[in-house]
Amino acid sequence: MQCELCGMGSSGCRPALVDGVRMMLCPGCMKHGKSVKDVAPVDVQKSILGRIKRPRERDVYVEMDTKLVSGWNDLIKRARKEKELSREKLGFNIGERTITISKIENGDLRPSDEVVGKLEKELGITLVEKAKEVPNIPSGSRPGSGLTLGDFLKTENK
Ligand SMILES: [Zn+2]
Repeated sequence: MQCELCGMGSSGCRPALVDGVRMMLCPGCMKHGKSVKDVAPVDVQKSILGRIKRPRERDVYVEMDTKLVSGWNDLIKRARKEKELSREKLGFNIGERTITISKIENGDLRPSDEVVGKLEKELGITLVEKAKEVPNIPSGSRPGSGLTLGDFLKTENK
């Protein structure tokens, strides 16, 4: 059994609510969560979560400005383990809470651009996919844009 907050293996992990998210916590992390009494066995929860999570992720993240590489949460987790950092330590290093790191690694939370930048730097990984979009400079040839380069420059000089 592995604690979902600190990632440490522990035989005494119990279900608890952390910021409304159900997680398995080791005794050391219990103080961060609210104990849950009647919950379904973990594997059942995991398999249900695994099934409903995939499509939802895609719907939510497609609207974001920055495109993250697929499997970004696993990438973060792997890189952190390679560096032998605990979630607490990684969170401390980039100024985020442990629960935030946990949610990010579980794919429950999409890190903000700022956090993505810090994670890339701290872990030496690349999380952002190169944008294939049109450059963000208005040009007359761009469909739907009424601005010419001249208009753009005028705006800039204001
Ligand atoms: Zn723990």
